Amino acid sequence: KTPVPSDIDIAMAQTPKHIAQVARELGLRDRELEPYGATKAKVDLSVVDRLKDFANGRYVVVTGITPTPLGEGKSTTTIGLCQALGAHLNKVAIACVRQPSQGPTFGIKGGAAGGGYSQVIPMDEFNLHLTGDIHAVTAANNLLAAAIDARMFHESTQTDTALFNRLCPKQGGKAHFAPVMLKRLRKLGIDKTQPEDLTPEEVSKFARLDIDPETITWQRVVDVNDRFLRKITIGQNATEQGKTRETGFDIAVASECMAVLALATSLKDMRERLGNMVVASSKAGQPITADDLGIGGALTVLMKDAIKPTLMQTLEGTPVFVHAGPFANIAHGNSSILADQIALKLASPGRATSDTADEHVQTDPGYVVTECGFGADIGMEKFFNIKCRVSGLVPNAVVLTTTVRALKMHGGGPAVVPGKPIPEEYRTENLGLVKAGVCNMQKHIANTRKYGVPVVVAINQFATDTPAEVALVAEAAKLAGAFDAIACTHWAEGGLGAVKLAEAVVKACDAPSEFKFLYPLEMSLEDKIRTIAREMYGASDIELSDVARRKLDTYTKQGFAGLPICLAKTHLSFSHDPEKKGVPEGFVFPIRDVRASVGAGFIYPLAGAMQTMPGLPTRPCFFDVDLDMETGRVKGLF
Ligand code: ADP
Repeated sequence: KTPVPSDIDIAMAQTPKHIAQVARELGLRDRELEPYGATKAKVDLSVVDRLKDFANGRYVVVTGITPTPLGEGKSTTTIGLCQALGAHLNKVAIACVRQPSQGPTFGIKGGAAGGGYSQVIPMDEFNLHLTGDIHAVTAANNLLAAAIDARMFHESTQTDTALFNRLCPKQGGKAHFAPVMLKRLRKLGIDKTQPEDLTPEEVSKFARLDIDPETITWQRVVDVNDRFLRKITIGQNATEQGKTRETGFDIAVASECMAVLALATSLKDMRERLGNMVVASSKAGQPITADDLGIGGALTVLMKDAIKPTLMQTLEGTPVFVHAGPFANIAHGNSSILADQIALKLASPGRATSDTADEHVQTDPGYVVTECGFGADIGMEKFFNIKCRVSGLVPNAVVLTTTVRALKMHGGGPAVVPGKPIPEEYRTENLGLVKAGVCNMQKHIANTRKYGVPVVVAINQFATDTPAEVALVAEAAKLAGAFDAIACTHWAEGGLGAVKLAEAVVKACDAPSEFKFLYPLEMSLEDKIRTIAREMYGASDIELSDVARRKLDTYTKQGFAGLPICLAKTHLSFSHDPEKKGVPEGFVFPIRDVRASVGAGFIYPLAGAMQTMPGLPTRPCFFDVDLDMETGRVKGLF
């Protein structure tokens, strides 16, 4: 249709298939499906086990050039590509995307279900509560936060023996340890299993975590852009006896529990990671974990359903897994490993695609298209070096999303002012700006090639792009070593507009590739950071602040030097300065601070001040949202 209607109008005009049908078409068994109404269902992890002997399907990751306020369309391209592969080329094609946070949905950005005729539906459910995973993450995170403060309070008001007696209460006349406590005993080098066997010295060592309040890194979370919670003082009621402490809230998706959910490879693995999360240090400098607080098991219980990916569908009825949505800054910004794993098995060549009839054997490989956040310097780097390292999965091709408009901005085009019309330069042909801006795309192509995987450039076309501009981008992409560069119109035309892109991706997946990581884990933490800054961002070197250097020493001493790096920097530039567009050169990359997500499994250096709790603008998206009282449908979501 021209003009293309709003995202929500397009989404609402389509009647989704029953989710059980989507599942059946994918070869899922009824018992593997846990429906949440007619359009969403969680998928049981047992499917990985059932299909463990099948080869994986093809694995494609969608990323983009350095983002601009004009929007590049990574989600739209992920969905459009899957619609093309699945509904037009008759392949099994599964999209794996993140669940959006309600913060941006009601704040500035709006939803993340794709756009135009390439969307996940029902888009209102996708963007709102979905199947409650973010709520589960919030519950787990905040239970742990409460446990930290309560434990410090009790330790401050009781003797070691009184604490110990309460921690190990008598049942049937005999004191006992909760199973999770045995882990702490082993950590302390106490090889005993009965409370009465502990010496008085061991009793003190065990009972007192002795958390240094200055070192607590665990914050509370809520899935709202609530800037006034960035810094708060807790414990102000008289019952807390003056034990006040300054702390703050993060947005729920910034919780380490969310990063754990995204990186877990099984239920058991999630249990271990949740238990290993480090929340503070003791006054003696020892890391204090969730399991030291005795809470890893309870956190796992709260997240036992969240670990199952949610199946939905695109506008054209092809399957989509929605799962996890870790913050793309201080976390790795990729959807879950488990969703990708399940999808790759369901996309296996040679698998029976029907529930009952094993004669429907598909011989073509299927395609799993997973998306990563921000530009390729951040999201894709973390996809390869963190996510693929944990999962052991090997990607076959990269799709780099770009737009003519964004490249013009990288070429020196004017800033876009919110509330004002988009400047003329972006709406009419301007080959000079495109030519000056393609360097940004070319640097991302060169970066991708360092991982040994073929890269297909998707030129996500806007109505105002001219053929000469698009041709210029395609030529520059091939010159930089892209496997192919394809102009596509899936936003305006759905899957049909991405058929050529899909064909190129199929070819790229069959091309020889030799995937490799950017750095080995054995490298020192400092050298790992330096490698990323030099090789991905183009920095000449890094500069560590005193705090950062001290933290790196501490983490190395605590035994965490073998973790990969999750660098938190601005997404608006290759450098640390969001104003520097194109390909900045000759800069020294500053590391202000370093933190650790030990449970999730990465060290995160911070390049600037990272905001982990967004705020609402003067005119948030929520002004437009309401319920249509006639139909009961959500309107004005975007
Ligand atoms: P990203 O994943 O890169 O953040 P999205 O796919 O979410 O970007 O798209 C951002 C916004 O831009 C959406 O509202 C989408 O509808 C719009 N958009 C994407 N591609 C196009 C296009 N080719 N023409 C017009 N609008 C588009």
